[in-house]
Amino acid sequence: MTETKLTKRLQCIIVRGDIQIWVEKDRADVLRQRLNQPNCPQFIEYEERMINRADIVGVYEAVDLEEQTRRRNGNWKCKEGNWHDRGEKCECASREVIEQNKKIAERVAKCTKCKGTGWISTKDNTSAKCSCITDPI
Ligand SMILES: [Zn+2]
Ligand SMILES: [Zn+2]
Repeated sequence: MTETKLTKRLQCIIVRGDIQIWVEKDRADVLRQRLNQPNCPQFIEYEERMINRADIVGVYEAVDLEEQTRRRNGNWKCKEGNWHDRGEKCECASREVIEQNKKIAERVAKCTKCKGTGWISTKDNTSAKCSCITDPI
């Protein structure tokens, strides 16, 4: 068996007072289990800390914290799921259209049916758009 490098998934336990405790997910699960026990004490000894369970805000994924930091820095997430700087205009949608047009242009150039014109003659001698233009990407 070859040794594979595993990147441990980190999770963040957030405690009131702006405290972040970063642990590997399986260690976060330990806390989760302890909190779920019916006889869970008010103060939990965890990772050499004594935490008042009432102060635990939650267990979060790294990406949640990353998004929070970005938002605090004034960045915002557009509906395409990309981050933008404060005041930056979102052009993700139009960028996608540009990308698509580029792909279509490449497809037309390579098309043997219309010989790169994008148009084909139909039986009744009219022109129609070739499938290299009309087919979805
Ligand atoms: Zn955008
Ligand atoms: Zn064509």
